[in-house]
Amino acid sequence: MQTILPVAQCGEAILTLIAAPISESEFGSAWLNTLADTMQDTMLERNGVGIAAPQVYISKRVIIVASRPNPRYPDAPEMDAVVMVNPEILAFSSEVVSGEEGCLSVPNERGQVQRAEKITIRYRTLNGKAVETEFSGFPARIVQHEVDHLNGVLFVDRV
Ligand code: ZN
Repeated sequence: MQTILPVAQCGEAILTLIAAPISESEFGSAWLNTLADTMQDTMLERNGVGIAAPQVYISKRVIIVASRPNPRYPDAPEMDAVVMVNPEILAFSSEVVSGEEGCLSVPNERGQVQRAEKITIRYRTLNGKAVETEFSGFPARIVQHEVDHLNGVLFVDRV
């Protein structure tokens, strides 16, 4: 079953909070899997290329990064969607690039945002497996944008 949740909008307090980590007992739980499914459905329905749990009113450190071409981002590269739990950016490249961003929580607004071109990230899967990997280009931009949401930061704060 598809579940579409309302998306918190700029100005709402939930978007300014520091989200709480998922605890060990929550990995592999039905609740965490349902949260990820629901975030994914909501993101796809709104043509997003990423989403963070606080955007659906859950102040927890879960994000989805899912670059693909769609009506909002026609030039986005295609990648498999990745659910990241408790993501931590370990390293930012010194190379910084400017690029256009929008946000499901900031309707009808785009802005040029400076982001590291490449990042190293560590996260856990829904089952708790630790993963360390690198992203560059647009997917790296999405990761940085979504991790910002977990720290109460919106792209409009960075323009
Ligand atoms: Zn956003």
